[in-house]
Amino acid sequence: MPTASGETEAEPRPLGLRFVVDALNNPPATGNELRLLARDHGADVVPSDFRAEEFLRATDAVRRIFTATGDREASEAINAILADVRVPTELDRLADGRWVLRPSVGPDAPAAWFAATAAFGLGLWMTERGHAAWGICAADDCARAYIDAGRRSPQQYCSPRCATRVRVAAHRESARAQRRSTARPELP
Ligand SMILES: [Zn+2]
Repeated sequence: MPTASGETEAEPRPLGLRFVVDALNNPPATGNELRLLARDHGADVVPSDFRAEEFLRATDAVRRIFTATGDREASEAINAILADVRVPTELDRLADGRWVLRPSVGPDAPAAWFAATAAFGLGLWMTERGHAAWGICAADDCARAYIDAGRRSPQQYCSPRCATRVRVAAHRESARAQRRSTARPELP
């Protein structure tokens, strides 16, 4: 069965989660948009019976996993989806030979498929990393979700671009503050 976890070799770990984040950041409004998005991630999915409203509810539920504060809350958001969709799981082999354990749900239920893929993938990622290694970008004017696949300090921004933007703004602000303090007339 085609699912979003069927990435090509180019897809780095964590499997399928870059697709999930992309779908949250650019929610597909039609079955065809979902198909194109999945194809970008190497999965051959032909969704039928795509219902925009249902899919939006699924992305909202998945987004709650990303906005959760702390591991406990994130795990509860994941468990809520797993309890809700109740899909069987299957062990499958990817084109590149890797084995993957994933939800077994058909493309005729795109919303359930997306929610299950996200909850299952994030749950596995949490067990692998030992904590909820994902989040929402900390930049003021950005609300994009991201997966933290780094090995060093925890990621705070969705992209190097947002991180640089925030750093440059902070630098400008401190330079301004410094100018203000040195412009002040010296007291005798
Ligand atoms: Zn960002």
